[in-house]
Amino acid sequence: TSDMPSGVGDTRTLRVGRTVGVLALQGAFDVHRQRLEQLGATAPLVRTANDLDGLDAIVLPGGESTTMSRLLTTSGLFDDLKGRLIDGLPVFGTCAGMILCATDVLDGRHDQRGFDLIDLTVRRNGYGRQLDSFEVDLDVDGLSDAFHAVFIRAPFVERVGPDVEVLARHDGVPVLVRSARCTVAAFHPELTDDARLHQLFLDSLTD
Ligand code: GLN
Repeated sequence: TSDMPSGVGDTRTLRVGRTVGVLALQGAFDVHRQRLEQLGATAPLVRTANDLDGLDAIVLPGGESTTMSRLLTTSGLFDDLKGRLIDGLPVFGTCAGMILCATDVLDGRHDQRGFDLIDLTVRRNGYGRQLDSFEVDLDVDGLSDAFHAVFIRAPFVERVGPDVEVLARHDGVPVLVRSARCTVAAFHPELTDDARLHQLFLDSLTD
């Protein structure tokens, strides 16, 4: 309409209105919230089923996937969140969040549950004790300069399904991948000031 500022209608302007929830039961959720808000998104913390209302997407942060699985179950959030994800709510999962999204988890706890969203086999803590945490510069599809990635007891991607797109690898191993509505990173993109992967995720949201 006539009172809209110029630029309304380009994707950058539309993106500002996004509401991206951040699962906040455990782990590194607050920095994700900061990155998203820095980019103009609204980023409410998600702890109950009511918090899912009105979300355009959700971030599943790093932390401890077994603990998150347990808290998702005891809080009653698991089934409602799974329902929204199956209905197509876009998700960005990092580290433990990647584990929660993968179809196949090796070295998981026997009672650990996940959302079966992306055809991947991941091994928990698969980089081994010698490499508990490490940092590398990654070439990422869609970014012109390297992204500095922090890995902390990261999952090791052992298999990628045929419909999964690999956006970055480290030593040949996929570390950032996506399928239709699910983007997952083995590392912690929220732990540096670089918000470009959050921006890529926001850019990927379509109506
Ligand atoms: N090793 C953790 C797990 O199994 C993930 C570590 C992380 O998120 N930094 O959930």
